[in-house]
Amino acid sequence: MSKKKGLSLPLQILIGLIVGVIVGIMMQGNPDAANKFIKPIGTLFLNLIKLVIVPLVFSSLLIGVADLKDAKQIGKIGAKTFVYFFATTAIAIVIGLGLANLLNVGGNFVLPADQLTYEAKEAPQFIDTLINIVPSNPLKSLVNGEMLQIIVFALFVGGGLLAAGEKGQAVFNFFDGMTDAMIHITNGIMKTAPIGVFGLIVPVIAANGPKVLLPLIRVVGIVYLGCFLHAIIVYATSIKIFAKLPVGTFFKKVFEPWALAFTTSSSSGTLPVSLEVAQKELGVSKPIASFVLPLGATVNMDGTAIYQGVCALFIAQVYGLSLTPSQQLTIVLTTVLASVGTAGVPGAGMIMLAMVLQGVGIPVEGIALVAGIDRIFDMIRTSINVLGDIACSVIVAKSEGQLDESVYRTEKKELKKA
Ligand code: ASP
Repeated sequence: MSKKKGLSLPLQILIGLIVGVIVGIMMQGNPDAANKFIKPIGTLFLNLIKLVIVPLVFSSLLIGVADLKDAKQIGKIGAKTFVYFFATTAIAIVIGLGLANLLNVGGNFVLPADQLTYEAKEAPQFIDTLINIVPSNPLKSLVNGEMLQIIVFALFVGGGLLAAGEKGQAVFNFFDGMTDAMIHITNGIMKTAPIGVFGLIVPVIAANGPKVLLPLIRVVGIVYLGCFLHAIIVYATSIKIFAKLPVGTFFKKVFEPWALAFTTSSSSGTLPVSLEVAQKELGVSKPIASFVLPLGATVNMDGTAIYQGVCALFIAQVYGLSLTPSQQLTIVLTTVLASVGTAGVPGAGMIMLAMVLQGVGIPVEGIALVAGIDRIFDMIRTSINVLGDIACSVIVAKSEGQLDESVYRTEKKELKKA
C-alpha cells in the first residue's frame, strides 16, 4: 500500500463524526439553525451517494454477468461456485435479519415525530414485488430508481451481451469503462465523507441529543455477532460436511488473508494473499483458485449482506417503520442480487445499503446514523467476504478432486520450511 502523508480516510471520517457530535451538542438549544445551515451539507453528500447508485449498479452488474465467458467454459465448476456464493449470501442475510429482529436492533429507539421527514408508503406485497421484478419499461425503472427492476434488466443485458459474443464487444467496452468511471466517482465521493458525515449528524444530534448514538453500539455488536455466527455455522459446517476436512486447520491457515481483509477493508486488495494461501497452504489447484477467488472478490459478499440486513432493519425501526415479512423478503432478494454489483473496495457496501433501503422504501437519510462508523462495519464484513471466497475454493476444489490434501493437512510451519 502506498504510504501517503496525512490522516487516513477512516480516521478523517471518525473526526468528522466526533466534531459533528460536539457541534450538535452545542446546537442542541437551536435545532432550527442546524437544519438551516448544516443539514444542506449532509443532504448534498446523500445526493452524491444517490447520484452514483443507479449507474454503478447497472454497469457493474451488467459487466459482472457479461464477463462470465470463463464461467461458461468452466461449466460445472462455475455452476458449483455460483450455487455456493448465492446460497451462502442468502443464509448470511437471513442471519443478519434474524438476529436484528431477535435482538431488537433498534432497542425501541424511535426518532421523534418532527425528525421523521419521511412518510411511510404502503408496503408492496412480496408477490407484487416478484411480478414487478421484470420491468415492462426498463428506462422508466432506471429513471425512477426501481432497484430490483434495474438489477434484473442489468442481468438480462449482461446475459445478452454474453450471448452476442464478438458483436457485443463495443457495448461491453462501453459499460466496462462506465463501471471503472463509476468506481472512481465512488472513491471521490467517499473522500468527501468526513464533511458529509459532519453535515448529516449535526442536525440529528441537535434535535435528539447524543443519546441517539447509543443504539449504535448494539448495531455494531449484532453485525459482529452475525459475522461470527456465519463463519462458525456456514463456513465451518460446509467445510466439514461437503469437503470432509478438518475445520480448525482451515481457520488457522486463513488467518493471514482474514487479518489483511480486516485491516484494508478491501476484498480486491486482499486477493493476492488469498490466492497464495488457497494454493500453497490449503492445497487448492491453480485453475480453481484463480477462477473462484477473483470472482468471489467481486461477486460474493456475505459479510456485507449481514451488515445490510442488520442496518436496514435498524434504520427502519428508528424511523418507526416495522418491516413486513414481505418487505424483509424483498431485502433478502435485493441484497443477494446487489452483492454481485458490490465492488470489493472500502465503503462499497454502504453505497449498496443506500440502494437496498431505496428498494424497500426505507428512508435513505437513515444512513446518517451508521455512515460515521462505516469503517468499523467494513472491517468485519470484508474479512467475512474473503473467508467465504476461500471456503468456496476449498469446497469446489475438493469436490472436483483438485485439492491436495497433503498440503491442506500439513502444519503451517513445516510448509514454510519446505
Ligand atoms: N469493503 C468490502 C469488500 O471489499 C465491500 C463492502 O464495502 O461491503 O469486500
